[in-house]
Amino acid sequence: MSILEKSLEMLKEYPLCDHCLGRQFAFLGTAMENEERGKAIKTILLMEAQAMTLSQNKKGLQLIKILATNGFLEKAEEVLKGIRKNMLKKSTLKTCFLCENRLDTIDELAKKAAEKIAEWECNTFLIGIELPAEVEEREDEFRAEFGVEHGESMRIEFGRLLGKKISILTGKSVSYSKPDVVLIINPMTEEIKVQVNPLYIAGRYRKLVRGIPQSKWFCSNCMGKGCEKCGWTGKKYPESVEEIISEPFITVTGGSKAYFHASGREDIDVRMLGKGRPFVLEISQPKKRFIDLKEVEKMVNAHAKGKVRIRDLKFVDKDYVRKLKKAELSKKYYRVVVEFESEVADDILRLIEEKLPNTIIKQRTPKRVLHRRADLTREKYIYKVKVKRLSSNKAELRLQCQGGLYVKELVTGDDGRTTPSITEIVGIKAKPISLDVLDVIIEQR
Ligand SMILES: [Zn+2]
Ligand SMILES: [Zn+2]
Repeated sequence: MSILEKSLEMLKEYPLCDHCLGRQFAFLGTAMENEERGKAIKTILLMEAQAMTLSQNKKGLQLIKILATNGFLEKAEEVLKGIRKNMLKKSTLKTCFLCENRLDTIDELAKKAAEKIAEWECNTFLIGIELPAEVEEREDEFRAEFGVEHGESMRIEFGRLLGKKISILTGKSVSYSKPDVVLIINPMTEEIKVQVNPLYIAGRYRKLVRGIPQSKWFCSNCMGKGCEKCGWTGKKYPESVEEIISEPFITVTGGSKAYFHASGREDIDVRMLGKGRPFVLEISQPKKRFIDLKEVEKMVNAHAKGKVRIRDLKFVDKDYVRKLKKAELSKKYYRVVVEFESEVADDILRLIEEKLPNTIIKQRTPKRVLHRRADLTREKYIYKVKVKRLSSNKAELRLQCQGGLYVKELVTGDDGRTTPSITEIVGIKAKPISLDVLDVIIEQR
């Protein structure tokens, strides 16, 4: 069956707009839109019909009527008027069987969608089309009925047309892999749902004082709801590195929430010094994403009042969070001040520098974190150790080790759960007085 014969079969049965007729032949005739295809087919059919009427073929008039009604072809109507067959009443006006004339009003829908996008700062967008099941099933049955071989689906046509039109209206481009904003559009109900992709910003933080946890701790009494014990804050500690950094970002971006990802963590009583610990801040639903990172850096550092400082801010994507988590086990550089229960002789103290470097520490989960971590034995490598005596029973240790080593337990030995330990090597009970992370060394691979 030729394209024209097949089209005529379809139009005899169902009212079809130019888009929906043309779409059944979407893969024929490249570099044109379905609307153009549909219009061309209807025009040729009208010319053939007129030729029939001129040769007194009754079928010609019938065909013109079909084109004027089911084909929505104004020129067919004019032809009918010309031969004084003005038999079209207003009641014969029909709606397209497949798209219910929604493809005819697509410009208005695109305008509405462009206005939605304008509410969010973005470079790229992506359109998702949501069609009611009955609309898709109707098209499937239609295509089966007429053995459509070269057609595309209505979902594809809506998506492509809206993407093109919105791109022109907004000046923003379509991105399939990493769009800033995703619009889920239902063309039948004109409902538009907006999904805004999070903003990811990487940087490094230093924690210059002790007593601040890295992340927000919920009050263990009320689990965050707020109670008398926590002064109705829901928090165990009034502030955290996470909150200090997140708050200015939320203000600047107008985001709804921020998630703080860091490469490892230090205890509340440990400072994080050196170049700082890498982190990524994930900001949900940012209204603004074209922010001046230098400005926000200044804001955070002012807001942190010398307790926390951030640097090296840059925009990253979601993959970076995974890389950051992987880097958790990268090399760490610590300084720990150790106090021994009694005086330590020089040759004994030297044993630490002799025995600890280039060894593997076997470490069972420390007793102090057993309530929240599985009890297992980890093996962590010590690269370098430098010992400096501070007094007869105090020394400063600088050590480079594999990330994930519990340094406090390396000092105490945790009742034999960590071995070897400073206590074990020296033979005198040792405890950490203060601990600082001097650097987090991320190896670039
Ligand atoms: Zn249609
Ligand atoms: Zn509470």
